[in-house]
Amino acid sequence: MGGRFLSMGECMVELSQAGAGLLRKGFAGDTLNTAWYARACLTKDWSVDYFTALGDDAMSDEMVAFFREAGIGTDLIRRIKAKAPGLYMISLKDGERSFSYWRENSAARQLAADPELLRTAIESADVVYFSGITLAILSRDDADTLLAEVRRAKASGKLVAFDPNIRPRLWSSYDVMHATITEGARASSLVLPSFDDEAAHFGDDSIEATIRRYRALGVPEIVVKNGADGVTLDFDGTQTFVPAERVEQVVDTTSAGDSFNGAFLARYLADRNAPEAARFAAKVAARVVSEHGALVAYDKLGI
Ligand code: AMP
Repeated sequence: MGGRFLSMGECMVELSQAGAGLLRKGFAGDTLNTAWYARACLTKDWSVDYFTALGDDAMSDEMVAFFREAGIGTDLIRRIKAKAPGLYMISLKDGERSFSYWRENSAARQLAADPELLRTAIESADVVYFSGITLAILSRDDADTLLAEVRRAKASGKLVAFDPNIRPRLWSSYDVMHATITEGARASSLVLPSFDDEAAHFGDDSIEATIRRYRALGVPEIVVKNGADGVTLDFDGTQTFVPAERVEQVVDTTSAGDSFNGAFLARYLADRNAPEAARFAAKVAARVVSEHGALVAYDKLGI
């Protein structure tokens, strides 16, 4: 039995180095990446929609066309006059990548500024996915609006999935970041944190400590990712460890966590078997880290 998977957040224009001083244009962003992999892995009786805000410029039109081409629904996207998408550029120096961002004024920052549209979008979905980045880009009031809607979804029995995706640079202060991410998790029924982020920013000294902290917030389903060291699941108190796949040569870890999330949720929705979903997601993520870029073509995922 299918349904609608709704991912909410910001997709940006990505500029990467194409040699000889040329730049290649792409589109990426954590929640869009997860929507991409969910679409790749879900059965056809599921629709996948992206909820964001875009402008009325040519780049926004191109982005919408790109989502559609990928089979991702765009009907719920808010379009704002005289706004444009955010942008980031990947620079390469001695093989090391660094990122510059132009996203302070992006249209996506207003994705929750129309509460009615937000409610309609969430009510239309069976599964809702968002991240700490989705919350970080919003004003305090809009973050509260989004959290209230997500809480309603959880209370009505929907699967609400949240990746804390902790990016201190996006937040005005550590206190606001801690408090808002904690509320995001509390409003969710399934969280997918990355252990190294949680250790660095919440001070967790073990995966067990991360699980305890989220369980204490009333989150029944927890997936702690730990890179090449696999994932630990805690579903209603039952813990399972699932190792990562061995990868011959890691090419680019961009989107490893996002692809894991999309593939995990897709498979989990099929039969609610979390360890099996994690094994499947580890295979998809292994393919993704073996290729360049955030969005690996569906036919290269081996699904
Ligand atoms: P992370 O967000 O870094 O914890 O990675 C998410 C998922 O991607 C992990 O749970 C693994 O399944 C996969 N992954 C990340 N890095 C590697 C790696 N070096 N080798 C194999 N799998 C990886």
